[in-house]
Amino acid sequence: MSNNHFTTSILHSDRRLGTEDGAVHKPIHPSAQYAFNKAEDLVAVFQGRPGFSYARQGTPTTGALEAKITQMEEGVNSVVFATGMAALAAVFMTLLKQGDHIISSQYIFGNTNSLLGTLQNLGVEVTLVDATDLEQVKAARRPETRMVFVESLANPGTHVCDLQGIGDWCAAERLLYVLDNTLASPWLCTGKAVKAGLVVNSLSKHIGGHANALGGAVTDTGLFDWSTYPNISDVYRTGNPAGWGLTQIKKKGLRDMGATLSSDAAHRIAAGAETLALRMGKACDNALALARALSAHPRVARVIYPGLEQHPQHERAKQLFGGRYGALVAVELDDAVDLFAFLNRLKVLVLATHVGDNRSLVLPVAHTIYYEMGPQLRAQMGISDNQLRISVGIEDTNDLIQDFEQALAG
Ligand SMILES: *Cc1c(COP(=O)(O)O)cnc(C)c1O
Repeated sequence: MSNNHFTTSILHSDRRLGTEDGAVHKPIHPSAQYAFNKAEDLVAVFQGRPGFSYARQGTPTTGALEAKITQMEEGVNSVVFATGMAALAAVFMTLLKQGDHIISSQYIFGNTNSLLGTLQNLGVEVTLVDATDLEQVKAARRPETRMVFVESLANPGTHVCDLQGIGDWCAAERLLYVLDNTLASPWLCTGKAVKAGLVVNSLSKHIGGHANALGGAVTDTGLFDWSTYPNISDVYRTGNPAGWGLTQIKKKGLRDMGATLSSDAAHRIAAGAETLALRMGKACDNALALARALSAHPRVARVIYPGLEQHPQHERAKQLFGGRYGALVAVELDDAVDLFAFLNRLKVLVLATHVGDNRSLVLPVAHTIYYEMGPQLRAQMGISDNQLRISVGIEDTNDLIQDFEQALAG
């Protein structure tokens, strides 16, 4: 689990880095452009000095959020984007070229899987592997391999890949290891702890937590040696190599592609982030209690949750996440249960997509996020028609368990 100063550092970050008039929040800056009194200063910002010029590349408000994400991930620097998908697209599109090869976990977010398909159309080779098994990752290695991509906790299957083993191997091979840490969140596990070079977080999920803003972030952990990475443009190969990767992601991914986070959304996410540790702790405790209660229920066929001893990666999850197991629970109801009637009887759990909200959300996966795949692929992936994904929130524990019990009894 995270360092001891996790919440303190976020709570006091704005004040310590400097705000006006004693404000404890960084103000919401609406300015589209930033003016200079002297030509020398204007030119200096364009030539790389930290500062603001045009809000497509960030504002003081988004900068304050970047500092907080960097602290959470114990990294060296971050760039924020309009959404998590924009952050992922920026990483893939700015660091990979035609002919390059990427090894990706097969247990990834569906939209990320679709984005990798777009990359393939652009000439990047993609190999999907079962990344719970390090040997499969190693076996996919080619001379053109530039990147290994893994998620810290899979949705909806809750697979926990060999994050540490992959990190050690990538470090030895000098391969760029990119971790999407959205579902574990930096409170359960930082990217740096498993030796990732870059960490992506969707800020729309646990970090923001209130389902009232979208955002994404890319953090450089400082562990990857960018002087060895062949795809950094000559213009960004100046100064300390430690900053090259994120500079290219920011210039090409944010400035050129333009998926910019607004100051308003940055403020909401930053306010939500103050309570990440408290919310995540409660959500993980609720998820474990619900998973245990449902495992014992006669109308439930199967519960998939890393906190249960029978989960294939239970021991690994315990080590990586320090005894908490995330807020995602997959449940397969007994065939005898009428799925839609059951869902319609729920009173507390919300029928909605999204994960990492304060509210508990439930979704029938075969009919929604896996609908496009068709029945054959679903069967191959072990997704039954009666499978639910539950994103557990911070409600009072018994209210969640009782809601399930009354809906199953009906
Ligand atoms: C939701 C999610 C994303 C995308 O984030 P958005 O902010 O919704 O664009 C990426 N990765 C994972 C693991 C997610 O759960």
